Amino acid sequence: MTQTVDCIVLGAGFVGLGAALALQARGRSVVIVEKHGAAARETSLGNTGIVQSEAVYPYTFPRGVADIVRAALNRDSRAHIRHAALPGMASALWRYWQASAPGPRARSGVALRALVAQAVVEHRRVAAEAGAGALLREGGWIKAFRSSHGQERGLAEAEETRPFGVPFTALDRAALLALEPSLGQAAIGGVHFTDPLTTPDPAALGAAYLALFVSRGGAIVEADALRLENAGGRWRVMAPSGLVEGREAVVALGPWSDALARKFGYQLPFFVKRGYHMHYAPSGGALTRPVLDYERGYVVTPMARGLRLTTGAEFARPEDAPSPAHLDRLEPFAREIYPLGERLDAAPWLGRRPCLPDMLPVIGEAPRHKGLWFDFAHQHLGLTLGPISGRLLAEVMTGAEPFTDPAPYAMTRFA
Ligand SMILES: Cc1cc2nc3c(=O)[nH]c(=O)nc-3n(C[C@H](O)[C@H](O)[C@H](O)COP(=O)(O)OP(=O)(O)OC[C@H]3O[C@@H](n4cnc5c(N)ncnc54)[C@H](O)[C@@H]3O)c2cc1C
Repeated sequence: MTQTVDCIVLGAGFVGLGAALALQARGRSVVIVEKHGAAARETSLGNTGIVQSEAVYPYTFPRGVADIVRAALNRDSRAHIRHAALPGMASALWRYWQASAPGPRARSGVALRALVAQAVVEHRRVAAEAGAGALLREGGWIKAFRSSHGQERGLAEAEETRPFGVPFTALDRAALLALEPSLGQAAIGGVHFTDPLTTPDPAALGAAYLALFVSRGGAIVEADALRLENAGGRWRVMAPSGLVEGREAVVALGPWSDALARKFGYQLPFFVKRGYHMHYAPSGGALTRPVLDYERGYVVTPMARGLRLTTGAEFARPEDAPSPAHLDRLEPFAREIYPLGERLDAAPWLGRRPCLPDMLPVIGEAPRHKGLWFDFAHQHLGLTLGPISGRLLAEVMTGAEPFTDPAPYAMTRFA
């Protein structure tokens, strides 16, 4: 049986779901092709759960020699480097270092902000339509500090976002405890970003977005998206259930998007920042919102399953075996601040943040393939940006007036 639609969306993480819903809302018939046959089973499942409406500047590569050496020797707990991966990543990381210089960083910030500023509105709308408003919590999130030096740096970073209209409140220890009474002595103060939404269950939110898509006539088909091919100007994927064929195709495969781009001849300086999570039983207290240990570089979020600790970036090859090193290193720090009881998961979850050196996604048409569109590399912000990226892509694909200039996200900046 052949299923013929206007558009095939490859991938059912938050980015693919956002694209599928936005195209459908603009009158396109859409099928999602997904290897799990279900939504939010990979990177979109295991994240920190913050719709980061406060985000302006991307995470950058360290610029100073001392900071680079500290990171390279794994003396900075905010990142973990698997040294065997470095030769293969060197070229992309070199470009990441270049893109982290003040000028390019500022340009990335402006381009990122254009998307992020609309992210909460878009999530709220989709969640309301999906009947999943309860899966988005108010209350923002907190950056907690351990030292006056950290506090100074963290507050200065927050001040940098003020011209972009990001609301935040500086907290001394008493104000911090008024919001989160269970935080330990090591936390001396913080910054409260008041506007972001957080989800206690990213997987359930993804399932609700998929259910909305299906209730409006969409379908999800279990198949290998890497089998995408063009035949006679039409895009198609052979699935076990039959052929899926469309005039257009959207690649939203998160960390696996690069493999498909390469298949069609697009060589991008793509890399992943891997990250782990572990759930803990609450012990002697609770949290009501995510709290980042700013100087050690991990977050603890109250989730439906327990307190979820998510790590910062592990630089490794995408398919390297998981390592317990980063989480094991962070857990003793976390036990100084958070009410963590025993581990709840048999093994840490591993995810891969899909990245390009300028920390901007690719949203737009493939330069040399008509009808092939890309929507990936949302780095640390794919939960945040899924629905709004989908809206921009759908506006461009359907010839509507885009809400922001799509040029900064074009693939032509690399390929
Ligand atoms: C530890 C951690 C914490 C994070 N915290 C946050 C946060 O608080 N806020 C935020 O905004 N972002 C956060 N992120 C980033 C965010 O999770 C990602 O940017 C986002 O999930 C990427 O979504 P995606 O849809 O592009 O990719 P994915 O969610 O990975 O989806 C890609 C989909 O493609 C499918 N697929 C892959 N290969 C194939 C194939 N061959 N055939 C068919 N289907 C295939 C996969 O099964 C998957 O469903 C975090 C990431 C990590 C790792």
